[in-house]
Amino acid sequence: MLDRARDLGELDHRTFRNDEFWREIPGWRDVTPQEFGNHLWQSKHSIRKLDQVQSVLGSRICPTFIDDIAAGLKIAPMNIRITPYVFSLIDWDNPADDPLRKQFLPIASQMLPDHPYYMADSLYEDVDSPVPMLTHRYPDKVLFLPLTTCPVYCSYCTRSRIIGGSTETVDKDTYGPNPANWEPAFEYLRNHPQVEDVVISGGDAFNLTPRYIRLIGEALLEIPHIRRLRYATKGVAILPMKILTDNEWMDAFLDIHRRGRKMGKQVVIHTHFSSPREITQYSMDAARRFFDEGVVVRNQAVLQEGVNNSIEDMVLLTRQLAYMNIRPYYVYVHDMVPGCEHLRTTLWEAVQLEKSVRGTTAGFNTPTFVCDAPGGGGKRHVASYEYYDRENGISVWSSPNVKPGELFLYFDPVHRLSRDAQERWGNGDSRLAMVHEAIRRSNYEISDMARTKIAERLEGGAARSGEKR
Ligand SMILES: *Cc1c(COP(=O)(O)O)cnc(C)c1O
Ligand code: SF4
Repeated sequence: MLDRARDLGELDHRTFRNDEFWREIPGWRDVTPQEFGNHLWQSKHSIRKLDQVQSVLGSRICPTFIDDIAAGLKIAPMNIRITPYVFSLIDWDNPADDPLRKQFLPIASQMLPDHPYYMADSLYEDVDSPVPMLTHRYPDKVLFLPLTTCPVYCSYCTRSRIIGGSTETVDKDTYGPNPANWEPAFEYLRNHPQVEDVVISGGDAFNLTPRYIRLIGEALLEIPHIRRLRYATKGVAILPMKILTDNEWMDAFLDIHRRGRKMGKQVVIHTHFSSPREITQYSMDAARRFFDEGVVVRNQAVLQEGVNNSIEDMVLLTRQLAYMNIRPYYVYVHDMVPGCEHLRTTLWEAVQLEKSVRGTTAGFNTPTFVCDAPGGGGKRHVASYEYYDRENGISVWSSPNVKPGELFLYFDPVHRLSRDAQERWGNGDSRLAMVHEAIRRSNYEISDMARTKIAERLEGGAARSGEKR
């Protein structure tokens, strides 16, 4: 049995890349393991501009590819920021197909027009926000966004409307951490005893100073009904050196973790590996550090075309995370935000992948594949749609506990549909007719008012800008 597993590559997840891979980048050929393994060196040498891409790669990148990135950045909603760690893991002999390049460096030749029903705030985080920086959608849990900067910027970011500074196409109200602005959120939480669970996201907790990690943790733990804190950071995946060498940050986090434990409260890390290619011995060491301290780490991946939408990659990612004692928690179907059409998959693919992953390892290490229903329906299991018109790429969702009596719609990328369906999508009347037909076929009883609201949400200007109702 075991030999067969070895033959099938079923033990590949136990091998962690441990070579000096950065030396293949001409500009970093002489960087020592001590330098590369230091979070300060990583931050200082992070790539933020196109000319840095050119200068570290030298002749390893051809000018037409640089032009392609330049054209991509002109239309992309995210700026670039990439740690040397991630940058060196990109296969620069074939950057066009590389899953890491695809996530962090957009190229115009791969980008596609947005879906007609995209929304800048697809999840209605601003709409379901009672006070600034807080989204309260579910009864007992909230999302707190104390900052909107990150150590890397992802092309697929669901919060591209606010994260990472304005670009040529999007004006953003990006904000750094500022405790004076958090008080309304804390006050709201003190006054809402039903809330037990706070996701501290953003933005990325790696960009909170140790002082702010403590300040937020202490303020929240002090609220008697708050039982669970999750600090969300992609950092474990893209800057594991911070866990290993930023002792002040780690001490701050661990102090909050221990303080929580003494109070009988959970303080955990949520991270964000999307592809097995992001995983090396550094990841293993960082995960081990958390494990040694008794900190639970969970992972949320985003399903992306050409990044992780194969059975092999999803199974390998799942097993590798489990092997590192990181719990695969969610795989998200890509949100319907702008600038990402080339990265979205069909819902059908997500359903097929979930079937292929389930059964390959322990149930508690099997991620739940979810679609976060556009318009604020919340996270739904991918196979729990009320109706799915695969021909036209329309799925209909209900969310009885979050928004009773409403329906939500998710749409597959138009370029993946048949020619006929693509034509129907090209026309405002026929696409709305398809939507109404899908709602009718869902056999879900909703009021005429709810029906009108959906049509307005889809076709109206408010949907485009994610404006408040
Ligand atoms: C995802 C999310 C949460 C946390 O949900 P879990 O399913 O418990 O991980 C809380 N609030 C909002 C608005 C969210 O989007
Ligand atoms: S780390 Fe998260 S919040 Fe930051 S850019 Fe990436 S997806 Fe967006």
